[in-house]
Amino acid sequence: MSGLDLLAPEHHGLFIDGTWREAEGGASFAVIDPADGSELTTVADGSVADAVAALDAAVAAQASWAKTPPRTRGEILRKAFELINERSDDLAHLMSLEMGKPVAEAKGEVTYGNEFFRWFSEEAPRIHGRWMENPVGGSRLLTVRKPVGPCFFITPWNFPLAMGTRKIGPAIAAGCTMVVKPAEQTPLTMLALAAILTEAGLPEGVLNVVTTTSAPKVSAAVQADPRLRKISFTGSTPVGRLLVKQAADNLQRMSMELGGNAPFIVFEDADIDAAVEGAMIAKMRNMGEACTAANRFLVHADVAEEFATKLTSQMGSLVVGRGQDEGTQVGPLIDEKAVDSVTALVSGAVEGGAKLLTGGSAPSGPGYFFTPTVLLDVAADAEINSQEIFGPVAPITVFTTEDEAVTKANATEYGLASYVYTRDLSRTIRIAESLEYGMVGVNTGLLSNPAAPFGGMKSSGFGREGGFEGIEEYLETTYVGIAAD
Ligand code: NAP
Repeated sequence: MSGLDLLAPEHHGLFIDGTWREAEGGASFAVIDPADGSELTTVADGSVADAVAALDAAVAAQASWAKTPPRTRGEILRKAFELINERSDDLAHLMSLEMGKPVAEAKGEVTYGNEFFRWFSEEAPRIHGRWMENPVGGSRLLTVRKPVGPCFFITPWNFPLAMGTRKIGPAIAAGCTMVVKPAEQTPLTMLALAAILTEAGLPEGVLNVVTTTSAPKVSAAVQADPRLRKISFTGSTPVGRLLVKQAADNLQRMSMELGGNAPFIVFEDADIDAAVEGAMIAKMRNMGEACTAANRFLVHADVAEEFATKLTSQMGSLVVGRGQDEGTQVGPLIDEKAVDSVTALVSGAVEGGAKLLTGGSAPSGPGYFFTPTVLLDVAADAEINSQEIFGPVAPITVFTTEDEAVTKANATEYGLASYVYTRDLSRTIRIAESLEYGMVGVNTGLLSNPAAPFGGMKSSGFGREGGFEGIEEYLETTYVGIAAD
């Protein structure tokens, strides 16, 4: 291990006001290895009182943090970026243990997630308002940008580091303090991140982490506190809806990064080999457990057989195993519930007439694995078309016209990521403008990029993370009118 020991018990407490402490009453809960169901370690199980103590610390630190020069805030992020790079092997290993993804993929997440720290370290000194002359004369109009104030972040288990850095990076850059509640299944990566940010010089109270098995109670209490100014949530749409309702009383600012149901459209003029390569990335990144995962493959009738045959060949040859084993390409799903849900979606599709081209079941033995699966001719009303699969399953539906492809692609409550493969420029423009999605990938299966605004519309939520837009979520605007001749 380089630097600090990321599995060391001293970093398994709550992180409040710059110190590691036990939860109220010494409560703790187990972190499980999804590759075999065994206990990896335990972490503190924070109570409502612990969460309020974390908010107290964030509130106490807010004023001085807001006054800390932007360059200093940026340099702390930059230092953390460098420390994370130095420890990327350790972080990837830790993430693979608690989440299951192959170590190589976890390393990819560390690199990707860490880029938010670099991006926002550069954004911090560029926060600026504007000055203008009143169009009718007689005054000057100034805008002053200020941090929103104490924030509450709730993150999911599928990207334990990146879903945190996308919020923590811009909040630090903007001068906000925060309480972070990581997912119960993957608290260790976030705790390691807190240790690294502290080492990078983040003042006490700016970042507080509360691990807990009582997410609903903790969130309700923190949101009920009028001192909280913003909530940013990444997770499922039903929980997002609940948090939006809870934000209403205190009119908290909100960013909601919710579920997806991404279409992956392959037109007859596409480069099919490139489309299959993109499909493997869009489908299999994170074992299919991604909000951006291609959920529905819509393929033109002229190329459907070729696409399905090539995709099946690649999906069928993937190596499934423990994330820490050399050569593993597909790790376990997060838990038994996930395996049951994917199994039910595949069975429903097959019962509805879909052809099973490869995979289709969970292998016997320990751990929460599911074999990479391809389904062809999935019925329009199959549940797998309307629900997030969150597993390594590629359902293919055939279309014949461009209008049909767009109608099918938009026939979902979600609007996060979408993908299209075509070599026709006019069609690219038409499709990009017709798809009701926050993100459209053209001839690429990978959209995530810290320099781009990530986010959705419709039931996929609102707000953007990354890009120039990312910091706006953490800034307020005060307009100052000054009389002047
Ligand atoms: P989830 O069940 O909504 O959980 C996400 C987080 O919310 C966890 O920290 C969870 O805590 C917490 N939570 C659960 N119930 C809560 C409540 N009543 N009040 C407050 N917090 C609560 O989602 P998930 O299964 O972990 O994550 C997968 C979902 O995230 C998918 O829908 C995926 O599409 C979405 N996602 C979206 C994006 C995006 O950027 N749009 C990115 C990644 C994932 P516990 O762990 O303690 O239950």
